[in-house]
Amino acid sequence: MRAPKGEWGEGFINFTSNDYLGLSRHPEVVAAGVAAAELYGAGARASRIAGGNHPLFSEFEEKIAAYKGYEAATVFGSGYLANLGVITALEPEVVYADRLAHACIIDAVKLAGAKLVRFLHNDMADLARRIDRPGLVVSEEVFSMDGDAAPVGELMGFGMPVMIDGAHSLYKPQTSNLKPQIYVGTMSKALGSYGGYVCGSKTFIEYLNTKARPLIYSTALPPFAVGAAIKALEIIERDRPYVRAVENADYLRSRVTGDGSRGVIIPVIMGDEEKVLAAEEILRENGILVAAIRPPTVPKGTARLRISITAAHTKSEIDKLANVIAGLTRNP
Ligand code: PMP
Repeated sequence: MRAPKGEWGEGFINFTSNDYLGLSRHPEVVAAGVAAAELYGAGARASRIAGGNHPLFSEFEEKIAAYKGYEAATVFGSGYLANLGVITALEPEVVYADRLAHACIIDAVKLAGAKLVRFLHNDMADLARRIDRPGLVVSEEVFSMDGDAAPVGELMGFGMPVMIDGAHSLYKPQTSNLKPQIYVGTMSKALGSYGGYVCGSKTFIEYLNTKARPLIYSTALPPFAVGAAIKALEIIERDRPYVRAVENADYLRSRVTGDGSRGVIIPVIMGDEEKVLAAEEILRENGILVAAIRPPTVPKGTARLRISITAAHTKSEIDKLANVIAGLTRNP
């Protein structure tokens, strides 16, 4: 919890941020958040069902449902709470989750009292072998520590409801009309704000609104967060900042070999925990922040640097990172 000088990123080139589209500091996003606070206040004052439901919620819900191609959406306090809310409200007997699915999915399964069955990462044959009764299939759209994507279409081929956690989405417009029944998202990463949401059918969203405990027993998101997220979504549609983010990531990939990723999260797997901590320190001495990720966040033996590229990075910043990493791999 220490925050030494520079930890916030000031004075460093920061490759630890999930602000993939650089929107958290976009002047229009900040101004929209401030305007929302001025109109509705600093806090929501109550949970959504008990008077805290300021009008920005339905504005965001309509926009995000349309953008993601769903009938309806509902906003939660965070992505973590959205995952808890969905899985506890569904009360499934079994949850089949990818081995690399995020910690909040595992916490949700525990809280729901469901049986957790984990299948090998993106391995559909392994999932097929493990299925012994109907349940909920859960995976991530883009994996948080590896940057690779789940085979959503194949996950939908088992005749069971599928929930996809799209926390690391870049909000590129959908190219396929494959839609898992339940889509969970966060406003805390590419939207540059804070909060979570769930998209689904109108009936399912109505069910969540009456049943999901994190919606009922926790104070609603403050107006600032929702106002800022609405503006971020508008800017994404207008300016398409994901194009720049992907170009930047491709540029880094052309200079260093990431492990398997095609998105903006680029892992450099080193295996050894001491080695990865030493690499983090060397990068820091060179004015660069990169997160060293170790077990239990990632499986044993896969300690790594997690490089997060955003639309806001410049080519020269990426060059500097690539040069230091090349030095690290030359002198292991
Ligand atoms: N799902 C995934 C895959 C995540 O990586 C995260 C955050 N690290 C969350 C959910 C939680 O989202 P939030 O930060 O909005 O609580």
